[in-house]
Amino acid sequence: MNPQIHGVSMLKPFILHNPTVKPVALVLDSPHSSPHLPADMRSVLSEDELRDGEDLFVDELWKEAPHYGAALLVAGFSRVYIDPNRHLSDIDISMLDACWPHECQPSGKASIGKALIWRALDDGRPIYDRLLSVEEVAQRIANYAAPYQAKLAALIDNIHREHGHCYHINCHSMNAVSGKMGQGGAGIARADVVLGDRDGSTCEADFTAFVAAYFKDLGFDVKINDPFKGVELVRAFSAPSQGRHSLQIELNKRLYLQADGRTPSPNFEKLQQALTLLTAKLVTYIASKSA
Ligand SMILES: [Zn+2]
Repeated sequence: MNPQIHGVSMLKPFILHNPTVKPVALVLDSPHSSPHLPADMRSVLSEDELRDGEDLFVDELWKEAPHYGAALLVAGFSRVYIDPNRHLSDIDISMLDACWPHECQPSGKASIGKALIWRALDDGRPIYDRLLSVEEVAQRIANYAAPYQAKLAALIDNIHREHGHCYHINCHSMNAVSGKMGQGGAGIARADVVLGDRDGSTCEADFTAFVAAYFKDLGFDVKINDPFKGVELVRAFSAPSQGRHSLQIELNKRLYLQADGRTPSPNFEKLQQALTLLTAKLVTYIASKSA
């Protein structure tokens, strides 16, 4: 039964898949793979159109990770409702019907319509034909983005306390070609895999190199911090000098989806198996760092 807050039916902010075997110092999170829209979204676009902003099936692609000892945290709400991979004060004030009374620290993402609450999809289609109230934005933060971030922070803290270090993979997928509101402008073909460690600041260099080598050995074209460096979730809880390592992995949707952008392609299972094998190899990598 969904709880009710202010008469609006609530979705869960996250689903946590705990390890099914002895836990290791690895946590994965998938902040953008949910299609679920709370009832008060009130977008001008259809539910299907809004799925263009979704990292479809990313949680499914990584679903075997708990069987290797990793925790897998998955958002329970769509990222076009509120994006948990943003600082909670990254408010696009142009979308509001009144002054924002709380902390406001724009990251610059509002210029491409992708602050904490999105204004437009990648191709520029506006998501709303209305201004949002301060109260509804505050509710989205309190009910969805904040609990998601708090859960991830707690998972990382607990693993770090238990093991003395923690490795975190922030799991995403990206469109094959950028739209006009995409990073860097329209028409840019993306690599197969883009790893983001915010220019080497969110994890040890070895970790990025290990994951890059794995994908390159499989024949994938891999880029690092180009154009996606990672945003809030790899920044907020990482501190490599203290053994807290976070890495963003962006997978190109063409690797696992058909051209409709909605249906898994025949390569889906192959990619899923590759990610399962990567998880197994990461467990060995992490064990070697504990020695
Ligand atoms: Zn994403």
